[in-house]
Amino acid sequence: MEIACLDLEGVLVPEIWINVAERTGIEELRLTTRDMPDYDELMKRRLGVLESHGLGLPDIQKVIATMAPLEGARDFLAWLREHFQVIILSDTFYDFAAPLMRQLDWPTLFCHALEIEANGRIANYRLRQPDQKREAVRAFHGLRFRVIAAGDSYNDTTMLAEADAGILFRPPDNVIQEFPRFPVTTTYDELRAAFREASSRTL
Ligand SMILES: [Mg+2]
Repeated sequence: MEIACLDLEGVLVPEIWINVAERTGIEELRLTTRDMPDYDELMKRRLGVLESHGLGLPDIQKVIATMAPLEGARDFLAWLREHFQVIILSDTFYDFAAPLMRQLDWPTLFCHALEIEANGRIANYRLRQPDQKREAVRAFHGLRFRVIAAGDSYNDTTMLAEADAGILFRPPDNVIQEFPRFPVTTTYDELRAAFREASSRTL
């Protein structure tokens, strides 16, 4: 049996922070790791912005609850789960992802945690471990699983490289150019085909 590791945002659901920015009208929340490469700095900035607008976890969850998975994501995931043990490896937080995971029938998700105060204020965040996507794939290898991984962005590339096969899904141009070794897919049909192909190759 092989494990399929999937990124979440950009592969199954829209970018959460961008949607929160759009739906709250707070432009500063559009910042991504492309604008601020230091993830710690970026998260501190985001939490500061939420605080200055008096927004806590319940407000953010209300926004996220109005989001839906990408069109076709649910069917794709159902297909994938028939053929592989599926683990979603994401750099989001459990409290943010929950409303979307409900719509995807609660697949297994490894991500990070928020520290929430009783009044809903987000006090801090806790990364499970540095480079957790790659570390998870490494751990599955230690358990003698073969791994096929798919993701859309920079924070997936160490996971894709560590896996027995890595696939890009709707990546930005700069990622395509920097990582030509990974096949690029843009539809779920292509992604299915890429998983099938990688699976026949790694067996
Ligand atoms: Mg992503």
